[in-house]
Parts: sequence; structure tokens; C-alpha cells
Amino acid sequence: MEILSGIAAVPGIAIGKAFLYAEDLETPRYIIPQEQSPEEMKRFIRAVEEVAAELRTLREKAKTREQDGIFAAHLLMVEDQDFHYKVKARFETNYENIEWVVSEVARELSRKLIESPNEYLRERTADVVDVSRRIIRNLLGIKRFSLADLQEEVILVARDLLPSEVLAIRPFGPRAQGNYYNSPPEGGVCINKDKVQAVLLDAGSRTNHAAILLRSFGIPGVFGLSSATQEITNGSLIIVDGGTGQVFIEPDNETARRYKEQLAKQEQPAVNLSALKDFPAETTDSRRVSLVANIELPEEAEEIAHYGAEGIGLYRSEFLFLQNGRNSEEEQLEAYSRVVKAMNGKPVTIRTVDLGGEKALPAIANENEKNPLMGWRAIRFSLSLPDLFKTQLRAILRASIHGKVQIMFPMISNIEELEQALCLLEEARTECRKKNQDFADDIKIGTMIEIPSAVMTADILAKKSDFFSIGTNDLIQYTLAVDQENERVRHLAKGTQIAVLRLIKQTIDAAHAAGIHAAMCGEMAGDPAAAALLLGLGLDEFSMNASAIPQVKYIIRNVSIESCKALAEAALTSTSHKQVQELIRDWYNKYLPSLTLASDMIFETQAQT
Ligand code: PEP
Ligand code: MG
Repeated sequence: MEILSGIAAVPGIAIGKAFLYAEDLETPRYIIPQEQSPEEMKRFIRAVEEVAAELRTLREKAKTREQDGIFAAHLLMVEDQDFHYKVKARFETNYENIEWVVSEVARELSRKLIESPNEYLRERTADVVDVSRRIIRNLLGIKRFSLADLQEEVILVARDLLPSEVLAIRPFGPRAQGNYYNSPPEGGVCINKDKVQAVLLDAGSRTNHAAILLRSFGIPGVFGLSSATQEITNGSLIIVDGGTGQVFIEPDNETARRYKEQLAKQEQPAVNLSALKDFPAETTDSRRVSLVANIELPEEAEEIAHYGAEGIGLYRSEFLFLQNGRNSEEEQLEAYSRVVKAMNGKPVTIRTVDLGGEKALPAIANENEKNPLMGWRAIRFSLSLPDLFKTQLRAILRASIHGKVQIMFPMISNIEELEQALCLLEEARTECRKKNQDFADDIKIGTMIEIPSAVMTADILAKKSDFFSIGTNDLIQYTLAVDQENERVRHLAKGTQIAVLRLIKQTIDAAHAAGIHAAMCGEMAGDPAAAALLLGLGLDEFSMNASAIPQVKYIIRNVSIESCKALAEAALTSTSHKQVQELIRDWYNKYLPSLTLASDMIFETQAQT
């Protein structure tokens, strides 16, 4: 038996056979000697012919009109003479390998399309990406295994997974039924959720979006294993303990027996935490807060009531874009309306897209950004593409007639960005009015506080915001300058670092001074070990993965705000995060001794020690 230790990314136990999943190769780039250039162009022509033939076959097999339409559009693009001309012209400029040239031409084309004011053209971006990938795969001779072909349950082992790949673990929605996602035209990933028991990654962090999505799907995960793809062979028996971050390869009989018992318990939880679902999140001395949910996909809205969510504090709308790359105003309207209707009058905070960084749209994924997390993402992305942004805003506005909608802007770093966003929102309102499209007139506007500069100017931002929501995932990494994917430094990323605590406190105080409420939607809000501290700091709303709500509620209902305030005061006067950790540990031992706290956001996990 071999044991690997990684980040306990998503709790839960799974026992199964390993399946090694290889990602797409990166497109190589090299110079072609001039005498070989005719042959390189011939490779391109050959690839185009083969891809065209492939698409014709796919059209014949298409099950729906929509599918047929997509393949037909792709065929037109593959055979488009203008596209061929652009590839040839670019090739003859630098004499770089043709796969690289195709990817560059496609990127240029996508960029132009995505910036277009014309919605139809913007929608074509996804087609360009699909077609160019298909050609590049053909050129590289890659026959990508589709996870859709998995026949049995597996423990998925990969170097890394893009959020868009994880999304495919659970294909949702009308298009899923219409087979678009079930057989993606680019031959990409699509997995039956029931087939993936757990995910093991060499890379990753607890707060990256692969982890956030797996948590929503309830699929256990251990990340940051560094060498899982090397240590584990296809088909070997694996036990995954997502709670401790341990992975057992070919476990001995005793370990297997122990985990089988635990697995049986996991399947039949002893305590029904959802029994609390209709009770308020109120301390023993009557401090009431709201517990709301984070969702990534519209379909989740229909499931969160079970956990007692009082609304949605963060709907990460970018996943809609990552899921299918094409989102007309009508398609967005449908998705947002579905969420709003499902919540039946409870508040729904739709965050405008936080694309870029690790959640880059394929059309812009090749942008050569050295520091994508500090680059063209979130509100910066939206403000630079006003037509795309206003399309989203109009869709949100129109969905607001079905319930209580709030709009939230991500990654605001200064007041000008917030003002520009508000200005575009006003334009979107005017455009709706012109078309006689109704929308609610009491939509609250929230600003995400996830950059230290936003905290420092929170008093200014508060004047133009109806609420704040603290994004600790980003706030922690930007405050402490920690890349959470880097195993050498990620232990520093703790919400209990004094600097982070002070920033949280400052944000909450600035909100209250301006008479607006302070929410938190980063992962820290759903961490039971942080609940007492956050209550004591004055947080009004906790937004988290819905499955975390019952335990946080249990804590809140069994403590007094006075004891939480005392904890917060002591933490704020501490001089090191170790001291804060001790305070928290002692506090829980004193007030909630029966609770077992496993929190790698606050304490060191087994895997990291
Ligand atoms: C955050 O940064 O804490 C947050 C909620 O935003 P995201 O995780 O989507 O970046
Ligand atoms: Mg964020």
C-alpha cells in the first residue's frame, strides 16, 4: 500500500479504480525550415479535408436540428476560403508550424468576434474555437478520449482540470437533453456524473474553481498531490479520503475494511442536519444573520432549499459562459429566470461574469498574460467589452421581474470601475425601456470586496453600493501575495492571518458606517471553524456551498453573540495567526466541545504538516 497526501479539497470518501485522464496537449510552436514550407501547407490542407469529412459524418449522425446546425456551421468555417487565406498569409510571414498558425489565426478571429456589437457574431466565437481545436488535434494526431465513453465508475486522476472540464462532469440543462453537451461537437469532455466517484489532481488548491465545483456536485477531491499521475496506474484500487487529503493506493485489507465501514456511514449520515432547515440562523442571544448559498449552475438553485438556504449570495454567472461558450441575451435570460423563479421571492445575487484568470473563455485563453490573476479578468474584462457586458446586464434586469434580484460586480479595485459599471447598467436599463422590457426598480447593487485596494477605499465604494460581499478566496491571495496552487507557499494562505482579519473587520465596519450590510461569499464564510469569529466581527450574511449551511447554522444557533464578540476582539488584538488559531481552538473547546473541526483554511491540515 502506498499513501499520498494532498490538499483536502472536498470532503468525502470514495473507493474505486483509478482512471488516468490526460489533458489536451498544448499547441507547440517552432520554426519550419523554408524548404519544408510547401509540405507544411499541405499538412494544413489535408487536416482541413479530414476535419470536413469528420463533420459531414457527424452531421449525418446528428440527432437534433440544433446539433445539425452546429456541425453545418463548423463545416462552413472549416471550408471558408478567407480562413484558409489568413492561415496561408500568416504562415508565409513567420514560417512557424501550422498548428501554431491555426491557433493564432483562430485567436485573432475570436477576439474580433467577441468584441463585436453584433450578438450573432459574438455567438460565433465558440464555433471558431471548436473548429480550430478540431483542426489542431488532427494536425497533432491526438485522438482525445472522451470521458463520455467511461463505462464504469472511476476515481479520476489528472494533472489539472479546467473549470470547464469539471463542469462537464455534470452536464445540465435543456441542451444537455438536446445532446449538445452529451456529445460536444469538438469531441471534448463530457462525463456522466455518476461515473466519477472522486477526483485526484497533481495541481489545484482548496479554493480554486475545480474544488468549488466539485463541492457543489458532492464529489470528493484531493488536490495538490504533485505526482498522483505518476504514482498511480490505470485500474489500480484507490481509496480517497477527501476529509484528510489522504489517498491510499492498493490499500491493505485493514485499511480497506476501515474505509468501507466509513463509506457505509457516509451513505447513511447519522445526524440529519437538514432538520434545522426551517429554523433561523440566530444566536442564543438573538443576533440574526442570513445564510445563503453560492451556486455555479442554474440547476443548483432547485436543490439548495433542502439545506435551508435563505437565498443566493453568489451566483457565479461565468460558468454559464464556460459551459457552452455561447450565451445570447435570451439564453442568459432563461438561465437567470430559472434561478430567480426557483428561489420563489428569496434574494438572488447574480454576479456579473468573473471571466479571465483560471476561468478564461477558450476564445481568449491563449492571451499571453504573465499574471492572469492580476490581469484581464472580472469587471476589467466586462468593462472592456461593453456590448457583451450590457447583454448580460439586460438579461439580469429582465429576469428580475420573476423575483428578487441583486446584481454584484466582481474584482472592483477602485471607484471608477464601479462607476463605469453603474453607468453601463443605466444604459442597459434604457435599452430595456426602449424595447418595453420590464424589470424591477428595486434591484440592489453589490460590490465584491476581494482586493486590498477595495478594502482601503470601502468608505468610498459604500456610497455607491447597497451591500458588500467579501471574497476571501481572492482577498487572501492578494493580501498575502500567495499563489494557492504553489505547494511551497500555500500554507500561508490562512483567513486567520492578522492582515486578513483586519481587512475583513475594516470592510464590515465601513459597510455598517454607511448603513449597508456586509456579506461574505468566499470559502471562509462556509468554514465552521471561522463561523464564530465572523459572527463576532459583525458579518451580516454568510454565503457558502449549500451543503455547508446546516453545520454553520448549528454553530450559530448554539452560541451567544457576546462570546463571539469576545473571540473577535481577542483575535484582533493578537499578534500572530498562530495565536488566533489557538484562540479559536480554545473557544470551540469551551463552547462547542462536541464539534470536530477540520479546517485547512484556519488550521494546518494533516496533509500539510
Ligand atoms: C472570492 O474570491 O472569494 C469569490 C467568492 O470569488 P471567486 O471564488 O469566484 O473568485
Ligand atoms: Mg473572487
